[in-house]
Amino acid sequence: MKSATNVATEPLHDLEEWDEFLAGRYKQGKSEAEFRQYDAVATPGVAEFYRLNHKFQTVDYVLGKEKEYFGLNKGEKSIWEAAEFLNTLVDDSDPDTDLTQIEHLLQTSEAIRKDGHLKWFVLAGFIHDLGKVLCLWGEPQWGVVGDTFPVGCAYSDQIVFPEYFRANPDFDVPEYQTKYGIYEPNCGLSNVHMSFGHDGYIGEVMKNYLPEEALYMLRYHSFYSAHRHDAYRHLMSKHDIEMFEWVNKFNPYDLYSKGHVKPDVAAIKPYYDDLFAEFFPAKIAW
Ligand code: FE
Ligand code: FE
Repeated sequence: MKSATNVATEPLHDLEEWDEFLAGRYKQGKSEAEFRQYDAVATPGVAEFYRLNHKFQTVDYVLGKEKEYFGLNKGEKSIWEAAEFLNTLVDDSDPDTDLTQIEHLLQTSEAIRKDGHLKWFVLAGFIHDLGKVLCLWGEPQWGVVGDTFPVGCAYSDQIVFPEYFRANPDFDVPEYQTKYGIYEPNCGLSNVHMSFGHDGYIGEVMKNYLPEEALYMLRYHSFYSAHRHDAYRHLMSKHDIEMFEWVNKFNPYDLYSKGHVKPDVAAIKPYYDDLFAEFFPAKIAW
């Protein structure tokens, strides 16, 4: 079955293609120089995806999407309903070898659980990509996945394919191209507008239910220039820097827990039923 997001105008075959690009880019033991090389030979679909992402994620676009989605007016769903909804985001690749979205989420959360982490950390593993439901509400791939970055200030050259920012209309707004741009030094990330995508959105959905450490994991898990390359420290508060330890703890589970062994969903479902019941009411606003 083809989903609405898998139309000819979308550069990625499916959203997993971006996740696979990241896993390749940040393969354990790779040097910075090797990332660059890897990026240069990245599949054309990924390069085209970043070209669109860097061109269209403007301050105006981000403020508009925050207004549209951060009010959480897309209806109420339980966590399982949201996960089942995300599962309808299917592509036309081989159903026998590909994992469903729920299976991907469970691989992340089960890897965290096996390492003996606290329940909210396991929960963050399951939930972190549920914001990809944005695709099902008609958002383009470049507005749902991809590395996130602050808008309204100079772009870090640690962001993948930085040369594509030249086509962003904000590149010609001098106020947006200084080091601090529209922000104050070390103002804290809660005051910074990040490029719009599944991270910031799921952070809003979860903000009344999860501890702050988990919310940092959700909100900043695709902010690779900051958590992998230490960029944007001049906008971060001392508190952000402390909390980024948790983002860093989370990242390996996101990148490296995906295998091709299907989790036994029926067997582990009761654990997750209890976990969701502990943190959430029956349904929450999306
Ligand atoms: Fe993600
Ligand atoms: Fe993920």
